[in-house]
Amino acid sequence: MIPRYKLYINGEFVEPHSGEYKIKNSPIDNSPLAEVAIGDREDAKKAIDAAYEAFKSWSTLTAIKRSEYLYKLAEVFKANEEDLINTLIVEGGGIYKKAWGEVVFTERLIINAAETARHFKGSTIPSDSEGIISLTFRKPKGVVGVITPWNYPLSISMKKVAHSIAAGNTVVLKVSSETPIIAAKIAELVHKAGIPKGVINVVNGPGSTVGDEIVTNKKISHITFTGETTTGKEIASKAGGSLKTVTLELGGSDPLIILDDADINQAVKIAVFGAFFHQGQICTSSKRIIVHEKVYDQFVKKFVERISQLKVGDPRDKSTEQGPLVSKKQVDTMISFFNDAVNRGGKVLTGGKWVDDYFYPTVITDVDRNFRIMREEVFGPIRPVVMVKNDEEAIEVANDTEYGLSAAIVTKDINRALKIADQIESGMVHINDVTMLEESHIPFGGIKNSGFGREGGEYSFQETTYERWTTFTIRERKYPI
Ligand code: NAD
Repeated sequence: MIPRYKLYINGEFVEPHSGEYKIKNSPIDNSPLAEVAIGDREDAKKAIDAAYEAFKSWSTLTAIKRSEYLYKLAEVFKANEEDLINTLIVEGGGIYKKAWGEVVFTERLIINAAETARHFKGSTIPSDSEGIISLTFRKPKGVVGVITPWNYPLSISMKKVAHSIAAGNTVVLKVSSETPIIAAKIAELVHKAGIPKGVINVVNGPGSTVGDEIVTNKKISHITFTGETTTGKEIASKAGGSLKTVTLELGGSDPLIILDDADINQAVKIAVFGAFFHQGQICTSSKRIIVHEKVYDQFVKKFVERISQLKVGDPRDKSTEQGPLVSKKQVDTMISFFNDAVNRGGKVLTGGKWVDDYFYPTVITDVDRNFRIMREEVFGPIRPVVMVKNDEEAIEVANDTEYGLSAAIVTKDINRALKIADQIESGMVHINDVTMLEESHIPFGGIKNSGFGREGGEYSFQETTYERWTTFTIRERKYPI
């Protein structure tokens, strides 16, 4: 018997309005994992109404009380670590270290939200008029719509949820349809932690109905979305119809630049982890590897050697280094990128092979900037390596993309690194490390088609609150009429 998961609305586990359930299979071996409720527009409306009602009391709680609820939530997550790790592995195909890292990071995110809640301050402003005391308060925006993708469904969802509620907002969460079980687990833990009813609602269902209702419903004040750039643009334009504010964490095609003075062994380690961890399905994965011509041959040889040794297989085996992609659809997308590269004359140095939902890590050289793997976001395990003559060309290639999420530079020369970093068009840049660094309290986010807004710690609070100017007039004033 496989488990059956309902929707979570107003503190209760409820049947979906349509009565529809769908079996969720594992990408590991296609075995059925659970039956999950498929919500529709009516369910989304109910969840939004519940969050709207709950906002009235939740937003008036003291920050310390909200903090206490969040500390309790972190405790409950910790007590259920093993189940969460296992769910991430069997539902999403991530290897053990990815799943473990995501769960531990999620606990840290919730704790960070709990800590920040009590330290988020307004300001005092010297008034131009005598007898006026002028200050600002941070106020929660109201109901926040949280829409998230499948690659880090737990941490991305909880980063948005925890910081939103810490600031006094209530939320409706819609996780990707590829990962409904982890969404159901979030609901269970929220319930176990005793978060008051309606503060966090979880509705599984399609983006076109549940997602669309969240984006267009007038009772929602703010949308925080992580996903593809095309979806983000559609959401931003629809949300604009009701003047909602939006935070958009979108796609990336992050460059990793390896200079001629780099320690090549270290550069290879950075490139292997940065480009292929979690099957390359990370927004800040190193998606284009740009190498100085003097060290190109040496780097490529060592890089390909290591990539061809990566152990591909069942992620439940702790020694596996690369599991399946999340779905057959993603494998088909990779095949189409691969065929484009081969048809244009790209040289496949390793990989280029797929079996069921497993796509082997693939390195392609002899590419030019018209290849789709250079122009589009490759959200999977195919990586081009490009040779450049000098720093100027490296910067030029790095910036020749519609995206601007993260970037990395490997070199022993810090002045050179800073000079290049200064000219890279991205929201984040890392020197001598991977492109995909993230911490719970840093301003995470992109520019260009990688989105706008920043999330993490106090930066998330900036997104989900507004500043209210408040004055006290303490002297009698003269008015013109
Ligand atoms: P996606 O855009 O297909 O889906 C994301 C979410 O949006 C899902 O929950 C989906 O159901 C929902 N959705 C789809 N259409 C919608 C609509 N019209 N209205 C409302 N909601 C809708 O993305 P995905 O395939 O799940 O995730 C992969 C993408 O996410 C990649 O592009 C990756 O780079 C990006 N990503 C970005 C970050 C970041 O922080 N910048 C982090 C992780 C992933």
